[in-house]
Amino acid sequence: MKTCLVTGGAGFLASHLCDFLIEKGHRVICLDNLLTGSTRNIEHLLGHERFKFYKHDVTEYIFVEGKIDIVFHFASPASPRDYLEYPIQTLKVGALGTHKTLGLAKAKGAAFILASTSEVYGDPLVHPQKEDYWGNVNPVGPRGVYDEAKRFAEAMAMAYHRTHGLDVKIVRIFNTFGPRMRLRDGRVVPNFIGQALQNKPLTVYGEGQQTRSFCYVLDLIRGIYALAFSSLNEPVNIGNPNEMTVLDFAHLIKKLLKSQSPIVFEPLPKDDPHVRQPDIQKATTLLGWKPEVGLEEGLSKTIEYFKRELSSV
Ligand code: UDP
Repeated sequence: MKTCLVTGGAGFLASHLCDFLIEKGHRVICLDNLLTGSTRNIEHLLGHERFKFYKHDVTEYIFVEGKIDIVFHFASPASPRDYLEYPIQTLKVGALGTHKTLGLAKAKGAAFILASTSEVYGDPLVHPQKEDYWGNVNPVGPRGVYDEAKRFAEAMAMAYHRTHGLDVKIVRIFNTFGPRMRLRDGRVVPNFIGQALQNKPLTVYGEGQQTRSFCYVLDLIRGIYALAFSSLNEPVNIGNPNEMTVLDFAHLIKKLLKSQSPIVFEPLPKDDPHVRQPDIQKATTLLGWKPEVGLEEGLSKTIEYFKRELSSV
């Protein structure tokens, strides 16, 4: 049994990570400032004897008593709408929050897992994206606040590894979806499902020819767990290589929901990546991991979740 500290643990991804760690028999200390996370995502864990939640902003000094074996640093606004609304908080949690959590891991002799992102590749000129690609990021564009925060976080984590011998792992997370995404986080999956369920037009940005590759959340969490317990000290892509255009994705959502909603075209946001697809060879060969949940299967679970969300408001 390991003691795991999870920052951002009340958010979409890391709340599933908390569930997974508890299921595997570990202790979890969850920190979240609830800027974009919600205690609703962890309320079922609140009475659990191996789970503790503290409302805390990890850009401030972190004090935790006792031993910690693994620090999972997952705190950050993560959808384009969120990080455009909270640009300075995004930069702070990527920079100061990463520094504080690395310092904590060093003090406790803990391993450190950084939640990084496919956004470190920016609008990629190499396709699919392999871990050795350095990326094509606009540092001063609106998305730069997230991309550069995560790039800094990766550099900081590797500096702690090289300087202090910290056991650092970096997961580059590609587009992920599933229950507990916020209906209004602005991302394409909740937007299209929410729009179709409410008979509103599906808003495709640009001509919808940009591509994304969608991974179901539990597949992602299994990959992160495998990485956390591996001896790799380098970035690893975790995602599903099943690439499709945004327009095809809109048609798929319409088909799954038997929706009559029209598709409308809206301007493409600035610096929106034209393509994105993970090369997961490293994860498959070195971690023995691959995604297992099909897109339609994952979407049907997500659709059920959003139906419940909409009926409860
Ligand atoms: N997108 C869209 N309509 C929406 C929301 C998003 O066409 O209502 C597009 C967006 O421009 C991007 C893709 O869908 O090309 C994925 O966007 P998302 O915000 O989910 O995440 P990103 O991959 O850009 O971080």
